[in-house]
Amino acid sequence: MISHYDVIIIGAGSVGTPAAWSLAEAGIRTLVLDPQASVGQGSNKAAIGGIRATHSDPAKIRLCLRSIEIFSTWKERYGDDIEWYKGGYLFVAYREREEKILKDLLAIQKSYGLNIDWLDKEALLEVAPDLNPNDLIGGTFSPDDGNASPLLAQHAFYAHAKRLGAEFHFNESVTGIDVAGGRVRGVKTDKGEYGADAVVNATGAWARPVAQMVGLDVPVNPDSHEAAITEAVARFLDPMVVDIRPVTGSSNYYFYQHYTGQIVFCITPSPNIWGEDCRETSGFLPMVARRMVDVMPRLANIRVRRTWRGLYPMTPDGFPIVGWSKEVEGYLFAVGMCGQGLMLGPGLAELLTRVIKNSLTESDNEILGILSLYRQFAGQEKLK
Ligand SMILES: Cc1cc2nc3c(=O)[nH]c(=O)nc-3n(C[C@H](O)[C@H](O)[C@H](O)COP(=O)(O)OP(=O)(O)OC[C@H]3O[C@@H](n4cnc5c(N)ncnc54)[C@H](O)[C@@H]3O)c2cc1C
Repeated sequence: MISHYDVIIIGAGSVGTPAAWSLAEAGIRTLVLDPQASVGQGSNKAAIGGIRATHSDPAKIRLCLRSIEIFSTWKERYGDDIEWYKGGYLFVAYREREEKILKDLLAIQKSYGLNIDWLDKEALLEVAPDLNPNDLIGGTFSPDDGNASPLLAQHAFYAHAKRLGAEFHFNESVTGIDVAGGRVRGVKTDKGEYGADAVVNATGAWARPVAQMVGLDVPVNPDSHEAAITEAVARFLDPMVVDIRPVTGSSNYYFYQHYTGQIVFCITPSPNIWGEDCRETSGFLPMVARRMVDVMPRLANIRVRRTWRGLYPMTPDGFPIVGWSKEVEGYLFAVGMCGQGLMLGPGLAELLTRVIKNSLTESDNEILGILSLYRQFAGQEKLK
């Protein structure tokens, strides 16, 4: 007799772990499988902790608004400190091109109820006094966004998922998926077999081979990004600063001061660096440091302590892929989170629970339409 579950989640990462918590809270018998030794050891631990609802489309805006509610109230609801800090996000404009992009987006963002505004130069310098004032035009500021610890959040979701009855098997890799009569029946691993009514592919950058286990293709490719952290210094910066000016070698970069004092930062290489190579490069720090010091000269004297490299699970248009497979009944995708899996995680977890329970709202159906595997992938997310 093999053990049978309502749902098996493949992958205990930014998506799979909160999903297990939400499913268990709804009384759904859940098993999570992951080849790593504990939760969050894939891309989750590479994330720098940024959490925002300031996106350019209703699906990510709504999911992240809900995520922010969950992250920001977690400590008072459950007692765990996940280092949530509401510092806001600040997108700066030093040229008319970025001013136009940000102002055009603002109209969309406001129409979805986001608390975000355009600040001119003087107002922006009040929020972040150390920004380089030369050529600064202004920027958008969303005070309700913030940051939290990816690992502490994962461990909080994990502890509460377990308390509610979810099972986790670590050091166990899914090697195959049982399908009979066009329907998922369970999974095979390197250690055994389990039955399930539904199987969720939450394998992030590794989603493609796991989709191929049921003969499907899913356009998710690993795209490597580097990040770093400095020594701790006295507090001088509240919001996450994002500069979307493309220059040779990188398209944008972002940084914030963690409330324990360190500056944490990241850059988006251009062109993308495809593949799973997670060795740090010698090119990253000189490239990102020059850009950061240009926007905030005060950063020049802070010493970098550590760099790391992780994977974005990228899709062609920069939007996640969420929803049931049409070809294999009971196979659910929750993949392609790109650079936003941490911030999407808990909001998406609740949506996945409603998908499994078949209790979708009108808003959920709209989100699932935007994030469908069967879309054209022709658009481009403007703030990816
Ligand atoms: C440098 C960097 C900075 C980032 N900063 C942010 C940020 O500030 N905010 C933000 O929201 N996002 C950020 N991200 C993106 C974020 O880390 C990812 O979007 C997110 O972690 C993806 O979540 P996931 O659950 O899909 O994948 P993961 O967290 O990688 O989880 C997937 C899991 O699937 C498991 N798996 C793979 N194959 C199998 C198998 N065959 N069987 C069982 N399990 C399997 C893996 O071991 C892994 O644990 C950043 C990423 C990087 C690299």
